[in-house]
Amino acid sequence: MRILVIEDEPQLAGHISRALARRGHNVSAVHDGAVGLQAALTDPPDLIVLDLNLPSLDGLSVLAKIRQAASPARVLVLTARGEVEHRVKGLDAGADDYLSKPFSIEELAARVDALGRRTAAPAAGDLLKVGDLHMDVQHRRVARAGKAIALSPRELDVLQVLMQEPGRVFSRTELCERVWQRDHEYDTRTVEIFITRLRKKVDAGFATPLIYTLRSVGYTLRLPT
Ligand code: CA
Repeated sequence: MRILVIEDEPQLAGHISRALARRGHNVSAVHDGAVGLQAALTDPPDLIVLDLNLPSLDGLSVLAKIRQAASPARVLVLTARGEVEHRVKGLDAGADDYLSKPFSIEELAARVDALGRRTAAPAAGDLLKVGDLHMDVQHRRVARAGKAIALSPRELDVLQVLMQEPGRVFSRTELCERVWQRDHEYDTRTVEIFITRLRKKVDAGFATPLIYTLRSVGYTLRLPT
């Protein structure tokens, strides 16, 4: 994968870059938010490793602008230890996953690999339809009632899993495993944040909701009964 590392601590940035390059990725690193944003927009990488606390332009602003530009890049944010608030803000702003500092390189590599994998791989050209919600799986495009909806890569993954089996209830643990491929470090809040984001984009403004929460059971996507 082509990876852009935006991290202002040169030592850490170098450490991350070398480790990912050793694993066969094509990595470039910048140490400043504004420079990072410029790089991310001019030549969108497959994945961005984004520190949140950056000089000149903070990571959350960088992320918001990347998402506004509908960049297809997957974004892994690095948050300071114990800063739950940061993590939630990062995911809210459109990050696909997060990693808390300090982390091991093995942990980082595992997250990067998981982000690089597609969640589910139906036959190329597959079109998923639930009511007026359509997903072109191959081209990673979603539309409702003919109107395109811009989704981040992980939002798309979550929606794809739900749309592939309409009416089936997925527990948060199962969604977490399917989408983030994380079984031990399972995080309910992350799944909740993504469902909230999807609801805003897919259901808000439509008379018929498609995404349902079954309290303490999980989530499902279906036509109303
Ligand atoms: Ca920093």
